[in-house]
Amino acid sequence: MSARAPLSKYVIRMAGIVPESYVDGPGVRYTIFVQGCPHQCSGCHNSDTWDFFGGTSFTADELLEKIAFAKKENPYLQGVTITGGEPFCQAYPLAHLAKGIKELDCDLVVYTGYILENLAEVPSAIEFLEHIDVLIDGPFVQEKKVLTLPYRGSTNQRILDKKAIEKFLRDYKLKALSSAL
Ligand code: SF4
Repeated sequence: MSARAPLSKYVIRMAGIVPESYVDGPGVRYTIFVQGCPHQCSGCHNSDTWDFFGGTSFTADELLEKIAFAKKENPYLQGVTITGGEPFCQAYPLAHLAKGIKELDCDLVVYTGYILENLAEVPSAIEFLEHIDVLIDGPFVQEKKVLTLPYRGSTNQRILDKKAIEKFLRDYKLKALSSAL
């Protein structure tokens, strides 16, 4: 049995895959669009991903096999991007997928319509965040739309690297601990 076999129990509702993307983060990327989004941002380009009952289900195992195949076929593939839809509505299975992605030596970029401050109290979200190299957070805001922003649609969205995510989670934990004393 392969080391990844237990991941077959983690099911992810998916809207689609772009196996070679140049716009969803640095370098050449394997982009996964998850299905289901509660944010309903005005001007969203992916409104077909909003319906939580739409899309198709894949196990984390099946997705990892596809990513491993893409990486073997394309030595320039730098990493995986998970976007949506809202990835953090499926944080638990995606945390397990993310762990497998890192084992494939891919970096991981994740888009979310939540802000990091919203996610710090949710255990499955924290588990997912621990595997993310770059988080692009915040909803798309039509009034703040700028076409020339790299990797983002509107100026309110932030690009948070691993260090910034880790610092935020550390500070958040310390703050929670000190207020509990
Ligand atoms: S968070 Fe993303 S997918 Fe969801 S409505 Fe906003 S822009 Fe669309």
